[in-house]
Formats: sequence, structure tokens, C-alpha cells
Amino acid sequence: MELVPLINHQKEEILLEKETRKAFLAMKEDMEKEGLWINAVSGYRSREEQELIFQEKIEEGGREYAEQYCALPGFSEHETGLAVDVEYDLLFGDLEMRYNPVFARYGFIERYPEGKEMITGYNPESWHLRYVGEEYGKEIQSSGLTLEEFLERREEKPGDFVKEPD
Ligand SMILES: [Zn+2]
Repeated sequence: MELVPLINHQKEEILLEKETRKAFLAMKEDMEKEGLWINAVSGYRSREEQELIFQEKIEEGGREYAEQYCALPGFSEHETGLAVDVEYDLLFGDLEMRYNPVFARYGFIERYPEGKEMITGYNPESWHLRYVGEEYGKEIQSSGLTLEEFLERREEKPGDFVKEPD
């Protein structure tokens, strides 16, 4: 995996896998043309960083709380470089109607949607996008399935989506 930095609105450096970064930047540009605003706030995290975040959540509300709101170290999509946490301005439009179709067009999906908690094992995280590539992004969006359901149907593993960068 090749990680490449992206500078966000706060002038912070966010690391993303190369193809994911490219797709994100193209999407952002397109969104801005449509009058939508988006900003990346978190990308790649090392196992150690995830461990720290997890510990912080435990201190905040105990282990059960931590497990509900934070991926266990070793199980976070952020460790793959394919996940990006974003902020967007819903004043500019509804997430479902306006943002999600653009996410899909560029190969991003809302990974933990509302109402799918039993399947994903996560509380809704409307800010957490996962890069799956354009083809699958559109397919998943139009199917209304979660990644788990989609994969089960296809009998593929999440890692198969994006070819290993060279
Ligand atoms: Zn996230």
C-alpha cells in the first residue's frame, strides 16, 4: 500500500492510499462545482494510533462504550488507507439525496449506514466513507446493500476491491 498525503481545510496532513486519495480529490472538486462542501478529517491510522484512540474511548466511557463507537485495534478500516472520515455541510443538501450519489460515483460508500447496525456491527457513522472503486461504488449504492451484504452476495473479500498498488 502506498500512502500519499492530502492537505485538508485545516491545513492538516491526512494520509490515504494512493488511488483513494486521487478519487477523493476528484470527488471533492466535482462536489464543489455542485455547490457541495466536503472536508477530510481523518484517513490512514496505524495500529498504534488506533490503539490510542481506543484507549481514550475506554477512559471516556468504559470498554463497552469504546467497542460501540470505535473499531478494535487491528480491525479499523482506517488501517487500510481506504477509509476517510469526512465532514460535510448538510445545509447544502441532504446526505442521502445529494452526497451519497456523488460518493458512489467516485467509488466511495457510506460504510455504516443507519438501520444496518445489526449487519455492520457499528453504530451509524455518516462521516465514515470507504473506497471500493467506481464500479462497486455505483453497484453498492444502487443496491442499497451494505458492504457485508454485497460481499456475501459476491463471495469476495473486502481486500479484493482495490488492486494492490505497486
Ligand atoms: Zn472512520
